[in-house]
Amino acid sequence: MNSLLSDRVNNLAESETLAMSRRSRELRQKGIDVINLSLGEPDFNTPEFIKDAAKSALDDNVTHYTPVPGILELRQAISKKFKRDNNLDYSPDQIVVSTGAKQSLANVVLSLINDGDEVILPVPYWVSYREIVGLAGGKIVPVHSGIDSNFKVDFSKLEEYITSKTKLIIFSSPCNPSGTVYSKEDLKQLADVLAKHPNIYVISDEIYEHISYTKTHESLGQFTEINDQLITVNGVSKGYAMTGWRIGYIGAPLHIAQAAGKIQGQVTSGTCSIAQVAARAAVEADPVVVKEMQDAFKFRRDLILDLIKAIPGMKCNVPEGAFYVFPEVSSYFGTEIDGLKISDSVDLCNYILEVGHVALVPGDAFGSPECIRISYAASEDQIREAVHRIKSVLEKLKKS
Ligand code: PMP
Ligand code: GLU
Repeated sequence: MNSLLSDRVNNLAESETLAMSRRSRELRQKGIDVINLSLGEPDFNTPEFIKDAAKSALDDNVTHYTPVPGILELRQAISKKFKRDNNLDYSPDQIVVSTGAKQSLANVVLSLINDGDEVILPVPYWVSYREIVGLAGGKIVPVHSGIDSNFKVDFSKLEEYITSKTKLIIFSSPCNPSGTVYSKEDLKQLADVLAKHPNIYVISDEIYEHISYTKTHESLGQFTEINDQLITVNGVSKGYAMTGWRIGYIGAPLHIAQAAGKIQGQVTSGTCSIAQVAARAAVEADPVVVKEMQDAFKFRRDLILDLIKAIPGMKCNVPEGAFYVFPEVSSYFGTEIDGLKISDSVDLCNYILEVGHVALVPGDAFGSPECIRISYAASEDQIREAVHRIKSVLEKLKKS
């Protein structure tokens, strides 16, 4: 039946992060006690004051279609948030609110990319960047980095990857999956390269802004000379524990915001009115409200790093943000157990899921096949038990 589907969808991979979560849910439905560390989703509940705002929105009948780019008061609040937290100047008409940052990204990529255009992705990249670019007909150009450079790409060398077809660069800092945080100096190098290429756009995905263990969050937009090329993506899913509300947004040059709005207007229209009111409460609040969650994530990061030290085959760096560790696990490739061969990180994650009952994501999804991603957005008990299980199943593997 696949022959009846479009090439577009046949060439699209299922999101591997969501696929691992689906598999872990399926095992749970069979009564197996699986610990799901595959999904990048805070385990906290949405703060009460945000839920209260949504309840009032319902009572006030904010239940009608909204303007396509979002309710004006929300865009005004986001404009103030950009100024307050990032010192960025985006007026409300440069802001488009969408159904999650995922839709924000898709709107921008579809607005910019023609068949054959090249999109530079620092590796490791978030899995959906690759697939959204493919959906738009673009070609990804990966720029590799590994654990030895703390998964940081040297932006000063980016020019080596630029061709006449380069249209866009997409990166996240803090990075999903590596947790890497690019410093002001790193971002300056990127801005310097971009300033020499005014026809290349850049998406700075800052959705993990509030889950960072460095002192301040550095936005690429502080380098104002590249403002006409820059799209800043953010949202409330991660920082405010609001994944299910589906609110993401962009700040962008006016022509990009209008293009993104045009696409959204034909595909989904303005996103959920009640979620928009809730998001307004979130972005208007002093970010200190999320400090408790930040502190909990930092505690868990330190805990998981400490526990992983006891697994000799895993090489791990210290991520400075997001809620993932991204250990290098290639020492397990070429091992086996009872005739089952472990050749790569996909085999390894399958084995850990089937036998250890812990769901993780293979590094292939992010362009780094030598790694696996472990989310530590889980309780302390779950983290302890999960690492214990991972350690014991890995110990059973023998070199073949
Ligand atoms: N960007 C990155 C780097 C992410 O990890 C995610 C996680 N879902 C998103 C964008 C999309 O977030 P959402 O659609 O939930 O707002
Ligand atoms: N961004 C999260 C992750 O990487 C959520 C899953 C998804 O949207 O793909 O796990």
